Amino acid sequence: MKSRRFGWITSGPFFAVHVLAVVGVAMSGWSWKGFALAIGLYYLRMFGVTGGYHRYFSHRTYRTSRFFQFVLAWLAQSSFQKGALWWAAHHRIHHKYSDTPKDPHSFRDYGFWYSHVGWILSKDTEETELRRVSDLARYPELMWLNKYHLVPGVLLGVGLFFAGGWHALLWGLFVSTSLLWHGTFTINSLSHWMGRRRYATSDDSKNSLILALVTMGEGWHNNHHYYQRSTRQGFFWWEIDLTFYILRALSVVGVVWDLQSPPAAVRAANRIKDLPAADAAAPLLPEAPLSVPTAALADAE
Ligand SMILES: [Zn+2]
Ligand SMILES: [Zn+2]
Repeated sequence: MKSRRFGWITSGPFFAVHVLAVVGVAMSGWSWKGFALAIGLYYLRMFGVTGGYHRYFSHRTYRTSRFFQFVLAWLAQSSFQKGALWWAAHHRIHHKYSDTPKDPHSFRDYGFWYSHVGWILSKDTEETELRRVSDLARYPELMWLNKYHLVPGVLLGVGLFFAGGWHALLWGLFVSTSLLWHGTFTINSLSHWMGRRRYATSDDSKNSLILALVTMGEGWHNNHHYYQRSTRQGFFWWEIDLTFYILRALSVVGVVWDLQSPPAAVRAANRIKDLPAADAAAPLLPEAPLSVPTAALADAE
């Protein structure tokens, strides 16, 4: 069970960003230009979160060059969600122990607020368990970024300030980052709570179109828990997955390669609607059977 020791000092900046966003907009007034900047940087950095932190560093669902791997880590970390190694290590624990007390953000065990944001502010989750990300810890540049994880975000803030002053900093950093945090966090909280389940998995993961639009495709979370090695999380053409479309475009020009899709036989199996009611209610398998073992992952080239 979590001790839930709250890191008051380290959490200070997290609350400060929210306060600055709200007070800043209240004092300087609404700006559509500012809002467009916030949304632009929201989706750019959300791609770093989903295409970088999640589908590349945590699950290694595709391959890329060492240079672009660094670009992905930099872009992801400009979202102020700690180091790529920290993120991936905790996410791998999430999949290993989904919706059990050992899951760092189990909605089932710890409820909405802890799974949404409390776990990030807790002292219990500050460390990066490097043994869980040994495939990534071999790269000194990623280790450096993991240690100085604020550098990309702070430099983004400095750049915004010099480009557009307080107005750009307010909308591009404080407003955009507050939205981006909560957009991302919905996957740990709401995606284990709201939506529909297609596949029988041992956790509570759900599929939701609304969350998929907010998170560039991560809302197909039940699909993802069922078959983690797929780059694509929308398993069918109507399941909008913006991250995958961008990765596919990048693969056309050779920046990334070996994108994975779920085989048709996998997509068709283990559907809850096809299972006897007893099996669907009590899922078949204690752990998702098709998760990719991290030891088998390919290196960046
Ligand atoms: Zn995942
Ligand atoms: Zn999950």
